Amino acid sequence: MSKTIFARIIDREIPANIVYEDDLCLAFHDVNPQAPTHVLLIPKSPISSLDETANDDAALLAHLLLMIPRLATQLKLADGYRVVVNCGPDGGQTVDHLHFHILGGRPLTWPPG
Ligand code: 5GP
Repeated sequence: MSKTIFARIIDREIPANIVYEDDLCLAFHDVNPQAPTHVLLIPKSPISSLDETANDDAALLAHLLLMIPRLATQLKLADGYRVVVNCGPDGGQTVDHLHFHILGGRPLTWPPG
């Protein structure tokens, strides 16, 4: 399988505006932001989607979830934010590497499109 764009960002083959990194994950600004702040949080391991997670990923998934409020604080999203995980074609997933969208900086409407 060919490398996804996010794997290439992890490997520094293409640039990204990185806001956080540790051994397990990377967070960077989305290239096509849908809100004043739009950051993507991804695991470094190549999990293609939420559908491809397994029990062995529990600690990693907990780490990613726990990172979100910390990133929100770092990104100064004190008024709130939205977390989105698009999954599969109907979910609008376009990059086959698990990612959490963190959106904020304006009031977000509901329901999404
Ligand atoms: P999805 O549609 O799969 O849920 O989200 C993929 C996201 O990745 C989109 O919001 C898109 O703008 C973003 N994206 C795609 N290619 C790049 C890239 O090369 N760099 C960055 N920073 N974001 C990207």
